[in-house]
Amino acid sequence: MNNQARLDAIFERLAQQYGKLNEKQQAYAIREIGRIRGELADLLADYADSDGNIKRTRINRLMRDLDDIEKQIRKYGTVALDEIIKDSAAWTTTKVNGALNSIVGATVTASTFDRINRDVFRYVVNRYGDDGLVLSDRIWSISADIREEISAVLRSGIIRGEGVSTMIPKVRRVHDNETWKIRRLVQTEGSTAYRTATAYNAERSDVVQWVQINDRPGMHRNHDKHRCFILANEDRYREGPGIFKPTDSEIYSPHPNCTSFITYVLDERWL
Ligand SMILES: [Zn+2]
Repeated sequence: MNNQARLDAIFERLAQQYGKLNEKQQAYAIREIGRIRGELADLLADYADSDGNIKRTRINRLMRDLDDIEKQIRKYGTVALDEIIKDSAAWTTTKVNGALNSIVGATVTASTFDRINRDVFRYVVNRYGDDGLVLSDRIWSISADIREEISAVLRSGIIRGEGVSTMIPKVRRVHDNETWKIRRLVQTEGSTAYRTATAYNAERSDVVQWVQINDRPGMHRNHDKHRCFILANEDRYREGPGIFKPTDSEIYSPHPNCTSFITYVLDERWL
């Protein structure tokens, strides 16, 4: 096996490992955002009579108080996503440099590490997706959706005379129903940080001139319509399919929920 094949094998493994890490990050974000359930239960307890019901006349006021709940969702979501992006960048920088070091004995310095990780964070939080939105807009949108669902459950529950103890499990189900949006967000943003960090480290490296995008077929239906599939098969520079410059940012986030990964093409001196 030459150095290129050895490096490819390591990067393949890293992609699997990052997938596992991202699953943990999804669970973490769901847990963090789920903290509002406790706050909501407290809020409902404040509104309830001694018999555990909320009077209809208090609905409007309660609906306004959901502003605070929505703000909390945004806060927990922002803190969690910031941490996930930073952790993904730092994990990637450490791993890809470990790989390069083990194969060709080359690595970048620790101060460069920090700068790369900061640049990745800045890129990911400021990135405009195809939806025309940046990360904070996506968090606002998820928070608004959750609040909307909670409002609907509470409004109809109160009108029907349901007690707080009946409404709380329904509110919990709202959170469960919305978790796929949080999963998708973490998959999208965390993986973008992972791919961006891989590319930024290549840019700073003397031993890598080109990078390659690898799609992961079999994960989705209609995979051949996905942008990652198209990019992985495009031979833009006559260097081979999927081969791009590390600065070609379109390979950092081909589409939402994308699990593609970037590998390095070693300069011929290092083969
Ligand atoms: Zn993809």
